[in-house]
Amino acid sequence: MRLILLGTPGAGKGEQATRLSKKFGIPHVSTGELLRREMEERTPVGRRISEFVNRGELVSDDITQAILEDRVREADCASGFILDGFPRNRHQADFLKEALQRMEAPVDAVLNIEVPDGTVIDRLINRHRTDDTPETIRHRLRIYRKVTAPLVDYYDRAGILKRIDGDGSLEEVTQRILKSLARTA
Ligand code: ADP
Repeated sequence: MRLILLGTPGAGKGEQATRLSKKFGIPHVSTGELLRREMEERTPVGRRISEFVNRGELVSDDITQAILEDRVREADCASGFILDGFPRNRHQADFLKEALQRMEAPVDAVLNIEVPDGTVIDRLINRHRTDDTPETIRHRLRIYRKVTAPLVDYYDRAGILKRIDGDGSLEEVTQRILKSLARTA
């Protein structure tokens, strides 16, 4: 099973991806995590990544796409994966489609986790990550609306979008996702 999780920063993608990963026994691939790991290693590319992340900007497509493709080509992704934080714009979505076509591994479903704006801001403020300052949060939400939200339509047109009500406890949201996936199986 290959899944994509969409939703604003703070919608709970990471938490749900972790839960689904355990449930289905497939890896949780978070580009945010992969990029933070690269930053910690303080390689030249890691330093370039920090400049984007600390301003709340998207990291450039060439860097993000290369890191993502390397990861989904690893052996543990052969039985499936859950993408969290990728794709985040139309260019990345087209890239992913082509990369997965080459691997003969199409995406089965895209889950859009929908949460009201007020809830999202409260959650992010309580998260205490170094890139979660009020300014970068506002900036990330603006970028999300402008370049990532259009992917909801993109996947809806492809016929693989599922809308998930993300307002509720972690367990409630997981149950909604499982129900929605059962309808396609
Ligand atoms: P959040 O969903 O709260 O933004 P993430 O951990 O998914 O948290 O991402 C943290 C940061 O990593 C983003 O603000 C962005 O700078 C960078 N990032 C993650 N995924 C991508 C991506 N697909 N393309 C570009 N930048 C990304």
